[in-house]
Amino acid sequence: MSDKFDVIVIGAGPGGYVAAIRAAQLGLKTACVEKWVDNKGSAVLGGTCLNVGCIPSKALLETTYKYHEAKAGLNVHGISTGDVTMNVEQMVARKDKIVGNLTAGIGGLFKANGVTVLQGMGKLLAGKQVEVTAADGTATVYAADNVVLASGSVPVNIPPAPLADNLILDNAGALDITETPKRLGVIGAGVIGLEMGSVWARLGTEVTVLEAMDEFLAAADKDVAKEAAKLFKKQKLDIKLGARCTGTEIIDGKEVLVKYTDSEGEKELVVDKLIVAVGRKPQTNGLLAADSGVKLDERGFIFVDDHCRTEAPGVYAIGDSVRGPMLAHKASEEGIMVADMIAGKHGHMNYDVIPNIIYTHPELAWVGKTEQELKAEGVKYKAGKFPFAATGRAMAANDTDGFVKVLADEETDRIVGIHMVGGQASELIGQAVIAMEFCASAEDLQMTIFAHPTVSEALHEAALAVDGHAIHMANRKKR
Ligand code: FAD
Ligand code: AMP
Repeated sequence: MSDKFDVIVIGAGPGGYVAAIRAAQLGLKTACVEKWVDNKGSAVLGGTCLNVGCIPSKALLETTYKYHEAKAGLNVHGISTGDVTMNVEQMVARKDKIVGNLTAGIGGLFKANGVTVLQGMGKLLAGKQVEVTAADGTATVYAADNVVLASGSVPVNIPPAPLADNLILDNAGALDITETPKRLGVIGAGVIGLEMGSVWARLGTEVTVLEAMDEFLAAADKDVAKEAAKLFKKQKLDIKLGARCTGTEIIDGKEVLVKYTDSEGEKELVVDKLIVAVGRKPQTNGLLAADSGVKLDERGFIFVDDHCRTEAPGVYAIGDSVRGPMLAHKASEEGIMVADMIAGKHGHMNYDVIPNIIYTHPELAWVGKTEQELKAEGVKYKAGKFPFAATGRAMAANDTDGFVKVLADEETDRIVGIHMVGGQASELIGQAVIAMEFCASAEDLQMTIFAHPTVSEALHEAALAVDGHAIHMANRKKR
């Protein structure tokens, strides 16, 4: 038996690395196990999010939005740019550099906080022991008073579209395309599908997205989904609903024939690349010994209670490998809660106030309940909506698409949901999250001073509109 730790965290994604840093800050002797290795055999830190998820996708989205603006969005300001060209290899290299800086940064933070990195595949044994099998096959068993499982998730593969080198790609492969394809197919109109579709549509690729469900963005508020569908259509993202992929064939090693069915029957589509973005599933292969005491739920997630405790005392699980939205900030906050609990503190996690964002342009962002959820639950609510087109700052930026909608309980006035579509919605939603975390009423937001001129004023006006008192638009119904 080797070293003993107060806490061993398995997985160094945004759930695991945050849990490890917090635990070390609280004075606990902490190790973090990570199986991912680079070509030098060192542990790759940061998980899906930093390496093949949130960060690289946003790097590509930022570059391609700048290209799109330079090409088509500056004339209105009187700026002519001449020929605008795109070097896709440089875009990908820039993305890789950002990833490299950030992942190296986690190593630095571990060092600064005294977290021990254990490179290897972690397996939870009975009695809070963790076996770590390094890349060279050497296995070492460590003991811990507490174990945090943060093994994250992997892409779902579907039998009709098995990955094929450089032609049929999952979300990781999709981030490394180095030449603009003429035609791109995307299976799945979820967050990843829409973000990746946007990247390439902005570079002039003909993008077709096949979505099996009849409803677009079923989890979003209907107003958001409707506005987004309208705007994406304008951006020439061809989103086919009720279209289920049933098979694929590689033609001459260079094109993909995609077969799908929709309400009219069987159809085909030929593309140069196909991205499979049909969701992610928890990663638990090889993680748990049969007698570890930790159970999985019926969907394969590690079973935990509201405080991320598994069935085995002293063993916690967080992030994408447990129930709840597969989001980096949800994973990180669970990591902090669990580390706090281990250190004897209270630990806090408000599952009702987790922001959701889709980083298209405009961005889609929301927190709390949708109108359809409130209706289904029989909650009586008031709604106030305000368009960015009526704010001076959005006009100045020539970025007027979208709106903010505030939903408040009719009896108590407490805000129960905020939904938005807008150029800066990912930043603006933070204000909504803070308001809801502090249990604000619509009146609280109405009485708050918002700086002028800012796009945030749309949030103020939407809160005022809840009671028919928006200033800069004609209110539908006055009270
Ligand atoms: P992960 O990040 O998956 O990390 C788990 C780590 O554990 C991995 O490094 C893995 O190698 C390691 N591991 C697993 N098993 C073992 C084992 N047995 N032993 C040792 N190590 C192990 N979320 C957002 O909030 N915002 C976004 O903009 C966003 N964009 C995304 C874009 C894409 C393309 C993708 C794919 C995902 C995106 N996500 C986004 C989701 C986000 O990446 C995940 O929610 C987040 O990474 C989950 O964190 P985690 O720590 O639970 O797991
Ligand atoms: P998300 O889970 O947000 O990444 O979204 C994945 C999307 O892929 C969901 O909207 C699914 O309905 C969709 N999907 C899953 N399987 C298929 C399929 N065979 N063909 C088309 N869409 C699919």
